[in-house]
Amino acid sequence: MTLLDPRWGKPVVRQTPGSGLNGTSASLGVLMGNVFRRTSGRGWRLRRRSMELWPRWVKALQEFEACVTLQTGLLQIAADQESAARMAVLAEQRSDLGLELQTSEQVRSIWPTALHGALLSKADGRIDPLQLQTALRQALVRQGAQPISSHVVQLERHGSRWRVHHAEGHSTCHDGVVICAGLSTSELLEPLGHSLPISPVLGQALMLQLQEGPANWSNWPAVLVDQGFNLIPVGPGRLLLGATVEPGTDAADDPLALMRNLNDSAPDWLRHATVIEHWSGLRARPVERPAPVLEVLEPGLIVASGLYRNGVLLAPATAEWISTELQNA
Ligand SMILES: Cc1cc2nc3c(=O)[nH]c(=O)nc-3n(C[C@H](O)[C@H](O)[C@H](O)COP(=O)(O)OP(=O)(O)OC[C@H]3O[C@@H](n4cnc5c(N)ncnc54)[C@H](O)[C@@H]3O)c2cc1C
Repeated sequence: MTLLDPRWGKPVVRQTPGSGLNGTSASLGVLMGNVFRRTSGRGWRLRRRSMELWPRWVKALQEFEACVTLQTGLLQIAADQESAARMAVLAEQRSDLGLELQTSEQVRSIWPTALHGALLSKADGRIDPLQLQTALRQALVRQGAQPISSHVVQLERHGSRWRVHHAEGHSTCHDGVVICAGLSTSELLEPLGHSLPISPVLGQALMLQLQEGPANWSNWPAVLVDQGFNLIPVGPGRLLLGATVEPGTDAADDPLALMRNLNDSAPDWLRHATVIEHWSGLRARPVERPAPVLEVLEPGLIVASGLYRNGVLLAPATAEWISTELQNA
C-alpha cells in the first residue's frame, strides 16, 4: 500500500509555519457517537460501529504511542425543556450504551447554568487528534505502508489500473485508489468525469488558561457540551473550547466572541480565562448530500471524504468500510 500526502513526515502539531492545518489536526477529537439523535440510517450505523471499534483501536494504537487514550464521559447540557424531554427519551432507549439523564442538581457543581438538566453519555468522550495521528503513522508503517510525502496532481485510468501523478513530476501505478483528500477531493475527481462538490466550513478553537474557577477537573467529564460548543479539560487550569461553524474559509470575530461567552451565558471564570492558543481549520462538507461520502465511483476508484464535523469520530467505521471495499474489489 502506498500513502501519498504532502504532510507525511512533517511534525503532527497545530502550529505548522507556512501551511494550514489538515482537518484532523485542527479538530478537538470529540467522539459524540452514542448521543446521536437519530436512531436509524447510515449516520447512526457508522457512529455505532465507530463507538464499538474505538476501544479496540486505542488498545492497538497504544503499542505505538502509550499516551493514546479514550477519555470518556460526555455531558450534554439541555438548552430548554424540549431538549431535556428529547434527552430523556434517548436516555431510556440507550441506557445499555451508557446514556443517563442528569438533573440540574446533579450537574450543579460542574455547570450551575444547566437549569434543564443534562444528558450524560459514559462511553462518548474524546481522543487527542495529534497523538492519534502520530500513532496511526507508526501503525501504518508497521503494516507495510509505503509513505510518500507528495501532493497528487492527477489520477489517470490505465486499463484496470490507476496511474497517480505526483506534484514532483513522477508517477506510480496502482490496482486501486482511495481518495481521502478532504476539500481537494473534488478537483482530483473532476477530470475523471465525476462531480462531487465539497464546500469548506471553517472552525475556530481556543486553548484557555484559567485565572480562576475549577481548581481541578476531578468531577468533570472528558467533554462538556453547551449550545454545541465543547469544553474539554486538558490539564490543571487548562481547557479547550471549540469550535465555531463558519461557512467559507475566512475566520470571523463575531462567531469567536459568541463562542467565548457561550451566547452570554459563560461563567465568569471562562470569560476571564486567557487565550494561550487560537487556531482554525477547514471542514469538508459535501454539497446537497449527507456527510460522509463513502462511495465506489468506478472499479478501483474509492472515495472516503467529506467527513465534515465528525471525521475523527467516524475514522474507525470509515477505515473498516474502505477495507471491505478493497477486499471486494
Ligand atoms: C476546528 C475543528 C474542530 C473539529 N472537531 C471535531 C471533533 O471534535 N470531532 C470530530 O469527529 N471531528 C471534528 N472535526 C472534523 C474533523 O476534523 C474532520 O471531519 C476530519 O479531520 C476529516 O478527516 P480527513 O482525513 O477526511 O481530512 P483531513 O484531516 O483534512 O486530511 C486530508 C489530507 O489529505 C491531504 N491532501 C489533500 N489534497 C491532497 C492531494 N492532492 N494529494 C495528496 N494528499 C492530499 C492533506 O494534506 C490532508 O492531510 C473538526 C474540524 C475542525 C476544523
